[in-house]
Amino acid sequence: MKKALVIGGGFGGCAAAHQLELLGGWQTTLVETAAFLGGGCKTFYQGGHPYTFGPRHFLTNMIHVYEYLNTYVPLRRCNEHLFWTYVEQDQRFYHYPIHIDDIRSMPDAAKVLAEMDAAPGPSGAANLKDYWINSVGPTLYAKFIHDYNNKMWKVSDPSAIDHNVQNWSPKGPNIASGPREVFHDWISCYPHAANGYDDFFKIATAGPDTKVLLKTRIEKYDIPNKTVVLNGEKITFDIIVSTASLDVLFNNVHGELRFIGRDFYPIVLPIEEVFPKNVFFCYYANAQPVTRVVEYKKLTLHKSPTTLIGIEIPSMRNRLYPVPISSEVEKAKKYLAMIPDGVFSIGRMGKYDYVLDIDDVLDDAIQMAKALR
Ligand SMILES: Cc1cc2nc3c(=O)[nH]c(=O)nc-3n(C[C@H](O)[C@H](O)[C@H](O)COP(=O)(O)OP(=O)(O)OC[C@H]3O[C@@H](n4cnc5c(N)ncnc54)[C@H](O)[C@@H]3O)c2cc1C
Repeated sequence: MKKALVIGGGFGGCAAAHQLELLGGWQTTLVETAAFLGGGCKTFYQGGHPYTFGPRHFLTNMIHVYEYLNTYVPLRRCNEHLFWTYVEQDQRFYHYPIHIDDIRSMPDAAKVLAEMDAAPGPSGAANLKDYWINSVGPTLYAKFIHDYNNKMWKVSDPSAIDHNVQNWSPKGPNIASGPREVFHDWISCYPHAANGYDDFFKIATAGPDTKVLLKTRIEKYDIPNKTVVLNGEKITFDIIVSTASLDVLFNNVHGELRFIGRDFYPIVLPIEEVFPKNVFFCYYANAQPVTRVVEYKKLTLHKSPTTLIGIEIPSMRNRLYPVPISSEVEKAKKYLAMIPDGVFSIGRMGKYDYVLDIDDVLDDAIQMAKALR
């Protein structure tokens, strides 16, 4: 049998181990530093309420990925969900993406609409700030984008965010019209099971040829030779699938990659439901330290006279979001260029790309198995 090493036991690592098991002929060792599988998508409990660290709903336009996950963790569609954003200047919640009907109801609607008319459009924008100002004008930019991106990315000016600006409207068009549901044209879902995605992590790693090592750290990486030191033993593998950060794999030879993390506070409230119907998340666009509040019941449908919210505040205490700054992306490219045949670096951390979600890392694992086949 050939030997595979999988680094990380989140969605990416578990799916990779599962795909190798389905393929057959692979003896897989999955190494996870934490005491549990699932990474950021593992379900925890507070006051009886299930929750994950951040929303982690499953969104995709890839049918084969939906079918794959749905086979093991039956999924409930929740396309009805809405995002609201609080804008301090107007002391109001608006839909996000910014909706044309909300703009018409703003106190300064005439000014905003005139600026939108005069906006030249985002083509040729050099950074996130230009992209948005050229798309929607300065007033909407100030209300929704400027402060949010400063706190999200821990920069003093969103001009620093200069990578992939052409796509820098990841939750739909700059100005939406028609349906207010954010992902109305995508598959949007959450597991039926009270323990969320956890059964997938269990099933995916339960195969007879998969060995899971929790609370284990690889002591030394020699990726060019597909060799690592694990529990004091030097082992060479036929393939390595990694969901870890690229700088870790290559011992920081090009320097550390920058990530933004999150402090996360799950809080039980003495009320059955706190957000309006179909509002799953509220974003805070301005000076408040919080970026997002999630009401978990909306996703989990947990029944209780209390509710659970999760508050997210950007922090440097953990490494979660690759930063879309060209200098960092260029550094990541140097690492990606070092990846030899037989090593697959997948997911947000493995590709240093913020836009990658659960569906993308599942697809990476599926494509990895296809390539091996
Ligand atoms: C706050 C937040 C909210 C999100 N919400 C959504 C959402 O609503 N929908 C969506 O589709 N996506 C969401 N995402 C993105 C999505 O969760 C990730 O794309 C997905 O979890 C990626 O899976 P992964 O296995 O690559 O990473 P992770 O889930 O981060 O798992 C990586 C695992 O690898 C382990 N690990 C890391 N380095 C090493 C190492 N060197 N050795 C051993 N183990 C290691 C970690 O402990 C972890 O268990 C969100 C991300 C964040 C940060």
